[in-house]
Amino acid sequence: MAKALDLIPVSEWGFFTLPRPMAIAGPCSAETEEQVMETARALAAEGIHVFRAGIWKPRTHPGSFEGVGVPGLKWLRKVKEETGMKVCTEVASEKHVFECLKYGIDMVWVGARTSANPFLMQEIADALSDTDIPVLVKNPVNPDLDLWIGALERLNQAGIRKLGVIHRGFSTTESIPYRNAPGWQIAIELRTRYPELPFFADPSHMGGDRKYLLELSQQAMDLGLEGVMIESHCNPDAALSDARQQLTPKACVDLLYELRIREKDSGDKVYREGIEQLRAQIDIIDENILYTLGSRMGVSRKIGTYKRDHNVAILQTSRWDQVLEGMKEKARKYGLSERFVTDVFNAIHEESVRVQNEVLSGGNA
Ligand code: PEP
Ligand code: MN
Repeated sequence: MAKALDLIPVSEWGFFTLPRPMAIAGPCSAETEEQVMETARALAAEGIHVFRAGIWKPRTHPGSFEGVGVPGLKWLRKVKEETGMKVCTEVASEKHVFECLKYGIDMVWVGARTSANPFLMQEIADALSDTDIPVLVKNPVNPDLDLWIGALERLNQAGIRKLGVIHRGFSTTESIPYRNAPGWQIAIELRTRYPELPFFADPSHMGGDRKYLLELSQQAMDLGLEGVMIESHCNPDAALSDARQQLTPKACVDLLYELRIREKDSGDKVYREGIEQLRAQIDIIDENILYTLGSRMGVSRKIGTYKRDHNVAILQTSRWDQVLEGMKEKARKYGLSERFVTDVFNAIHEESVRVQNEVLSGGNA
C-alpha cells in the first residue's frame, strides 16, 4: 500500500524559472571537457537553466563507452561556475553519490535500471540521507508502478523531500516505432496518486530517435506533465552514446518553443458548464458499464454451474478466439481500436474464467 510522500514543492528548489515546461537538457554522456563546455554554453545562451550529463553510463555491452567517470564531475563543476546553470547526473551506487557530493553536483537522477533494484535504491537513499539535493527517479525498465513508488518511498524515508520523477518509457517485446513503450497510463496513475510530485518526461530515451521527440514531448504536455529532460549534444551525430536521439542545443530549445502548453483548467463559465455536462454523461455511462459487467459475470457464473453439472472443462480456447475475432470486427463499427477492444475483452475473459473456476471449486452458483 503506497504511503503519502512528504515533499518540498519544486517551486522552492530554486532550479526552474519558467513554470512549464521545466527543462533539463544536456548530453547523454559527458565525453570531453570541450564537448561538455560547448554544449553547456550553447544551452545556457538559449535560456536553459538545468544541465544534464551522464558520467557513469549503464551500457548493455561491456566495452561500449561506459562514461568518463570522476574526471567528468570537474567539467560539470566548471559548467556550474561558468554558466550559472544547475548541473545534474545519474547515480547508480553509493560511491556515485559520494563523488557527486564532493564535486558540488546540484541534483541527481536514478536511472531506469537502478530504480528497478530495491537494494541499490536503499543504498542510494542512505547515501543521500544527510543532504538536501533534489533527486529525480526514472521509472523502472519494466512497467511496475509499485516498484517505482517503492523507490520514491525509500528516498523519502531517508529524509529526501525534494523528489521528482522522470518517465522514460518501458522495455517491451512488442514491435513499436519507439525505443521504449510510452505506457502513459502508468504515468497517469502515478500522477493521480501523487499530484504534487514534479513530473518530467524523457522523450529522448522513450523515442530513441530525434524524429519522435516533438510528438512525445507534446503528448507529455497534453497529459499535464510539467517538465522534460532532453538529450542535447553540440555534435549529435558524433556522440559516443545515443547519437540518434540527441538534438543540437538550438534544435532542443526550438522544440521547447514549439510545444503547445494547455491550461490545467479554465475559469470560463461556458467551458465549465460544458465540461460538467460531459462529465455527468461519462458518470452515467460508467455506471452502465459496471451494471453490464456485473450482469455479464452473473451469466459466467451460471455457465460455470452448467459446465460443472455436465462435467465439462472451463476453458474452450477456440470458442474464445472466435468471440474475440467477432469483437474485433465490430470494434471498427463503434469507432474503437482493435487493440483496445482486445485488451478489454481479454480482461473480461480472464475474470469470467476466474468466476467459473470459483464455481467449480465449490463457490456459490
Ligand atoms: C540516461 O538518462 O542517460 C539514461 C541512461 O537513461 P535511462 O536510465 O532512462 O535508460
Ligand atoms: Mn542516453
